[in-house]
Amino acid sequence: MTSPDECTEDDCERPGAVVLHIPWGENRIVCTAHARVLARQDGVVADPLENLDEDWQ
Ligand SMILES: [Zn+2]
Repeated sequence: MTSPDECTEDDCERPGAVVLHIPWGENRIVCTAHARVLARQDGVVADPLENLDEDWQ
């Protein structure tokens, strides 16, 4: 399992910036680019991790 601070998408090493709340699965942390794509699915809510903003560059 990868660090909770990294994007959980395969082959993506960007820092996680958004929590996706997925009705049919577990919450996932993804980068902003993946959040934009994945949040288009019905029922998925993207919630920015504002409290982590000091740690990612
Ligand atoms: Zn990503």
